[in-house]
Amino acid sequence: MNINQIVSHAHILLKKANIKNPRLEANLIISETLKINLDDMPAKTENLNNQHTKNIFSKIDRRIKGEPYAYIIGNKPFYNLNIIVDKNVLIPRPETEHIIETALANIQNIEDKINIIDIGVGSGAILCTLLDKLPNAYGIGTDISEKALMIAKKNIKKYRLNDRSNLINTSWGNSIKNHFFDLLTCNPPYVSEKSLTNLQKEVKYEPSIALNGGEKGLDSLRDLLPSARKCLKLQGKAFFEIGYNQCNSAQELISNSHFRIQNVIKDLAGIERVIFATAI
Ligand code: GLN
Repeated sequence: MNINQIVSHAHILLKKANIKNPRLEANLIISETLKINLDDMPAKTENLNNQHTKNIFSKIDRRIKGEPYAYIIGNKPFYNLNIIVDKNVLIPRPETEHIIETALANIQNIEDKINIIDIGVGSGAILCTLLDKLPNAYGIGTDISEKALMIAKKNIKKYRLNDRSNLINTSWGNSIKNHFFDLLTCNPPYVSEKSLTNLQKEVKYEPSIALNGGEKGLDSLRDLLPSARKCLKLQGKAFFEIGYNQCNSAQELISNSHFRIQNVIKDLAGIERVIFATAI
């Protein structure tokens, strides 16, 4: 088969499996596998060897079974970076870009030498993006999952941030230098146990340790707040991502942990998504 025939065939298979953008995904999976530019695809009429063809259809098969596209390809665009991902980390979501926007908007000068901590760093999407945007900042990422830290390490290396960052295998902000950080970000697991069972097929491929926020989805936030507060300097800025319908309870938990709420930011769907608070 030549490339065009493979695209058509893959498109039909993905369409039958009710994948939303079957032609685009077929093109993307093929261009990524063959390492050719998406724009050059239509002109490609050469025949593919068996190995390449097999490789492409095994990826299409994984996609049909419901595995997220980002895991199959191994990366996901986030803000201005393309973050390496695998099944041990949550796939960065567009909603999380509100943490980046809000944090950047609340930094006095992007040249400032500030210390950042990202609690539950996962793939490193938040940490790498902030360090990339703040050339003199230093950042620490923590995670309880060693496998997640291996991915974060790859992203740090990819974006040449080794000199300005460290990864620490710990829970939340525990065993971290006290009152050292100017800025804290955290996208904790916040999906309630009940909603976890109703999630889309694709989300079930993601690590439940990064999603499961207990009965009402707020257990992780409640657990992490004391250590998060300790990491921060007085007046340090914290940005927490929260889930649907959690705004009031989350604000209460945060206020009760020596923080003052500054602002609540909605996502593009109008859902309260990020709470900005300062350490008091
Ligand atoms: N936004 C993710 C979802 O709803 C949840 C991420 C999280 O728990 N931090 O699928």
